Amino acid sequence: MPRPVNGGARRPAGGTADDLRRNNLATLLTLVHRGGGLSRAELTRRTGLNRSTVGVCLAELVGLGLVVEGRPAASPGKGRPSAVITPSSSTVAVTVNPEVDAITVGLVSLGGQVIERWRIETAADLTAKKVVARSAAAINGLLTGRTLDVVGIGVAVPGQVRLSDGHVRDATHLRWQEEPLAAELGSATGLPVKAANAALLGMFGEVAFGAGRGVDDLVYLIGGASGIGGGVVSGGEVITGVSGYAGELGHTFVRTGGLACHCGATGCLEAEVTQQALLDAVALPAHQAERLDEALAAAGEDPEVLALVRHDLDLLGIAVRNAVNVFNPAMVVLGGFLASLYRNRPAGTDLGQDAIRADREALTVTTAELGPDQLLIGTAELAFADLLADPAADRAALRPAT
Ligand SMILES: [Zn+2]
Repeated sequence: MPRPVNGGARRPAGGTADDLRRNNLATLLTLVHRGGGLSRAELTRRTGLNRSTVGVCLAELVGLGLVVEGRPAASPGKGRPSAVITPSSSTVAVTVNPEVDAITVGLVSLGGQVIERWRIETAADLTAKKVVARSAAAINGLLTGRTLDVVGIGVAVPGQVRLSDGHVRDATHLRWQEEPLAAELGSATGLPVKAANAALLGMFGEVAFGAGRGVDDLVYLIGGASGIGGGVVSGGEVITGVSGYAGELGHTFVRTGGLACHCGATGCLEAEVTQQALLDAVALPAHQAERLDEALAAAGEDPEVLALVRHDLDLLGIAVRNAVNVFNPAMVVLGGFLASLYRNRPAGTDLGQDAIRADREALTVTTAELGPDQLLIGTAELAFADLLADPAADRAALRPAT
């Protein structure tokens, strides 16, 4: 079961009886969180724990307010009906995603349910300080009048973010450099804040609840208005690199003598393959980018559109080949406009076909499943990570500063 990074707060496995108990709580809460509603019998089967241990742990999780035990459903089969355990809908994470033209603030409950999503239009070139102030005000408004247990805030930033402290190194599209974003939003709200690269968090969503569920070796690429990002899960662990900047598959080199990229190099995938070029080809305005799939399908055999789609898939294919040869994933998941490209691929075109034969054998290429909620759900996973890793850890009663 792949698990998102939790900022290095993972506890060592095994050891004392208390360690064992905490590990069992973490395993059960994560299963309930990701599984939605699971019966006691199913939890017993999936964990391999005995029934009484599962019972004791579930009682503790109910006591902590993290799961709810429903009445047993009438069972048509033999045997006693088993109660269904669901994640608490009042345990929530706040999500924040600053983009060039808007800040999206959301509330997501355990179980990955999006409760609320506010889009706050902003002027371009908003400074990090202004984003903190606008976000803090929105969060305050979002939580007012609700009785919720807020575990913290996750922030998805289109750029490179140091995972250890949520410090933004570079967010080129926002024109930010060296911004202590998580620390400042923490001071402004009184809530714990974590921040990470937005593409990485989109991947968290797909891994926890979407196409990558249960897949321990996965490469993820997502394309949007501001470029192409990605991430890699290997052996069930998210590859972060030494500071959290790993997985920048959009800056994979795909063409000699290629276009200049804003990263300073040339021939990067995200410089060569852009959403804007596709929108232009099918005459769609930027705010209708979600209609790209149908517009590409409607363009059918239009030679110009077809040539661009082939060009983009050829270059995307180079990036996918490289990633597949390096990481030997079971699955490549494509999101955003890369999914539109893939769904509209001409017959006979596929991705990963140039990877070495042994790597290709077990490879599935597919598209992201979560749609527009993907980033909110994945960003909430970052905020939930510590709770899922150690549900019984002391947590101060978290309420936003008023
Ligand atoms: Zn680049």
